[in-house]
Amino acid sequence: MAHVLIVGAGPAGASLAYLLAHRGIEVTLVERQRDFAREFRGEILMPSGVAVFEQMGLAAALASVPSYRFRDGELHLGGRPVFHVELDDSPATPVAVSQPGMLEMLVAEAGKSAHFRLERGAAVSAVIEEGGRVVGVRARTEEGERELRADLVVGADGRGSAVRKKAGLTARNLDTPMDIVWCKLPCPDDVRGVRFCIGGGHLLAAYRTYDQSLQLGWVILKGTFGELRSRGIEQWVDEMANHVAPELGAHLRTHAGAAGHPFLLSTRADCVESWSAPGLLLIGDAAHTMSPVGGQGVNIALRDTLVAANHLVPALSGAAVDPTRLDAALRAIEAERMREVGPIQRLQAQPPKVLLTRSWWGEPVRRAVGALLGVEAIRTRLGGRANVFTSGLTDVTLQV
Ligand SMILES: Cc1cc2nc3c(=O)[nH]c(=O)nc-3n(C[C@H](O)[C@H](O)[C@H](O)COP(=O)(O)OP(=O)(O)OC[C@H]3O[C@@H](n4cnc5c(N)ncnc54)[C@H](O)[C@@H]3O)c2cc1C
Repeated sequence: MAHVLIVGAGPAGASLAYLLAHRGIEVTLVERQRDFAREFRGEILMPSGVAVFEQMGLAAALASVPSYRFRDGELHLGGRPVFHVELDDSPATPVAVSQPGMLEMLVAEAGKSAHFRLERGAAVSAVIEEGGRVVGVRARTEEGERELRADLVVGADGRGSAVRKKAGLTARNLDTPMDIVWCKLPCPDDVRGVRFCIGGGHLLAAYRTYDQSLQLGWVILKGTFGELRSRGIEQWVDEMANHVAPELGAHLRTHAGAAGHPFLLSTRADCVESWSAPGLLLIGDAAHTMSPVGGQGVNIALRDTLVAANHLVPALSGAAVDPTRLDAALRAIEAERMREVGPIQRLQAQPPKVLLTRSWWGEPVRRAVGALLGVEAIRTRLGGRANVFTSGLTDVTLQV
């Protein structure tokens, strides 16, 4: 029986493990953390991400994970409202989901198959190659270093992927001129969804999250966090409050002292030149680290797994694994996914260029964009493009 070793129990690794194990393929999922809550992770599921759970037969299990479905959305420019949308009845409504809760649910569901094994606290440090193929990994565990062998190694170990590095798979870096500062505050009653506030070359995204607090993501020009931090949290929140709607600004100032530890997400975006090598596949952020624009990372990672399962299940289901057929399946996964990942990464690269520039033309262009966004016909047109972020670009259907 084929054995697949998946490195990293993020959304990509945990969902692929669930899919393969429930189709009779032996799966070992190796995760360096013992506890999923130890690393902050993205938590916005777009309808395209929710649909993956539906296709996996896990809609009810997902509903049991702490979450908050956005009820409205608002855009403010220079402190003035540009538009407000009620989302109550919209199928295109994003949901903030506890990612640690979602991952625990996925590995628990995978564990209902006798073909699934999870190794927590095992950090992969090297890939093992023999005869031009990847045949396993070395992992540091509490019992010391171990060798784990498999017919296929899947690197789903995120944006700092050790598997990618150790296998020598190189990536093209995509320009991301921003960083994001994250912190949480108590949520005002009138925020029932998401607020985007643009002003002074900054963007603040503020949304009610699954634990009913207000998650703030302040988009700043890359490299300017040190200067902000040196000013202290109260002044830092004050600076943020200057660029948002007056009521939200007052709320931020009142609760500045309650801000949890703000931390910096140094954003990056890249895409490996090849997602696979003989015996090895990369998926999720390990293959293509997504810019935070449009909250795509989790959703694209989940969509990778459906396509990967469609190709891997037939290639791994015979009595013995045919390496040539398997490697062709790996290349087919990349070809199919790049039809979506490539265009979405290009689309993500555009807004920060206008939003964050400190060039002389930045402010007039931002004002013009704000005025245009006030016109419903233009919003409808742009909404068509934004649908790519909520619903995806290609047809991704589980076929196995
Ligand atoms: C602050 C922040 C906010 C974000 N917000 C959003 C958002 O709102 N919406 C959205 O869609 N995306 C968001 N993202 C991006 C999103 O979290 C990622 O794109 C998504 O989690 C990628 O899933 P993945 O499974 O590929 O990788 P990851 O979620 O990164 O999972 C990788 C897993 O591999 C494990 N691992 C790493 N190295 C090793 C190793 N050597 N050995 C064993 N295990 C290893 C890690 O512990 C981790 O569990 C955000 C990211 C960050 C950092």
